Amino acid sequence: MASIKAIKGTQDVLPSESHKIQYIEKTALEVAALYGYREERTPVFEYTELFQRSVGDTTDIVQKEMYTFEDKGGRSITLRPEGTAGAVRLLLEHALYNEGLPQKVAYLTSCYRYEKPQAGRLREFHQFGIECFGAQDALADAEIISLADRFFKKLGVKDLALQINSIGCPECRKAYHSALKQHFESNKEQLCGTCHGRLETNPMRILDCKSPVCGEIAKDAPRTIDYLCDECKEHFENLQKHLTAMGIDFTVNTSIVRGLDYYTKTVFEFVSNSIGAQGTVCGGGRYDGLVEQMGGTHIPSLGFGLGIERLILLMEAQNCYFPEPPKCDVYIACIGENSFNESVKYVNNLRENGIAAQFDLTKRSLKAQMKYADKIGAKYVVVIGDDEIATDSGKLKNMETGEQTPIKLSALADEYVKIAK
Ligand code: ATP
Ligand code: MG
Repeated sequence: MASIKAIKGTQDVLPSESHKIQYIEKTALEVAALYGYREERTPVFEYTELFQRSVGDTTDIVQKEMYTFEDKGGRSITLRPEGTAGAVRLLLEHALYNEGLPQKVAYLTSCYRYEKPQAGRLREFHQFGIECFGAQDALADAEIISLADRFFKKLGVKDLALQINSIGCPECRKAYHSALKQHFESNKEQLCGTCHGRLETNPMRILDCKSPVCGEIAKDAPRTIDYLCDECKEHFENLQKHLTAMGIDFTVNTSIVRGLDYYTKTVFEFVSNSIGAQGTVCGGGRYDGLVEQMGGTHIPSLGFGLGIERLILLMEAQNCYFPEPPKCDVYIACIGENSFNESVKYVNNLRENGIAAQFDLTKRSLKAQMKYADKIGAKYVVVIGDDEIATDSGKLKNMETGEQTPIKLSALADEYVKIAK
């Protein structure tokens, strides 16, 4: 019988690779904390309605990409396709806003989307996300962009272009939507089936359509920034001023609209050319109406989602540094039955003192033990037999230099610290 393989579009993290994710996650939370963001965790599944109402019924995510199923109690459940909806639910359910505004939260989560798997596009992927609830001013927009920028810099990532745009508020959206409709109406016959429907329900979604024909028609569509009301215009200008003052390079890309319905005013992406077609590593923006739309009060908010797998692709392409996980400090190689039993004491003593220690659990030959010690990259090896145990003495061998230092077995941890420092 053929063995079972992982599901298409999912990725295993091998033991030899996990330190990369650990390093990225640790750095993410450290940088987030510098800006006052605290980690939160939400369940991997939620009621389907949460995503329908927040992400939007007419988006690709809700229409095509969600992993939705009925549970045994007949409820419609969906695996989280993105992080903002759950964060808003948590904010409201636990009345986080009572702890003062703005509330700044960060998360590291898996997301699930039924998309065509390819490089940088998975069905299970991971995001570092942040949300800032209760900040209206463009200072907040600049601050979350600065957080992402600092995170990338701390990891040593280069050549990421920050692109920003403003898609306005519901007020400016009215005039913009009718201009858009007019533009697409005249090319209606060429639009794909989905976009036909979008023309009535949500013409802005056509701008995000992946079909080449729709993309071509969208090219000379009216631009959101030409329809901004005074308030949105000023907000966008202020954001640019703040970014310039912070020394963060950006370009205005008027074609960014983002794939979710809840965005207002600022939208932005960090884009790379080094990882192929799926070059957007981080995407985010402002969503002033979402909390209210989800049953809360008016709490203007914003955030971003950053794809961990795409970030790793980018860091690997740029040969970025990943700290190596600690190797085995001391490997105890045993000769004879008794020494295996005695070694339990020695490794315990080492581990109690924070020194990574191992010995052979399978009672193999000395030769096989030495081979294994080499394989796991042990820094030091001490060989223990009946003689060594009887005389409380041994030699700690530096595996890199071959140098051997006599030691007292009963003081192995202290001896190691002296020699290895
Ligand atoms: P795209 O245009 O690439 O489909 P998106 O607009 O759907 O991206 P968001 O919903 O904003 O993406 O998600 C934020 C980030 O999460 C993206 O910038 C990307 O880095 C990552 N991401 C999104 N979808 C996937 C996926 N299917 N596989 C891997 N990473 C993803
Ligand atoms: Mg997408």
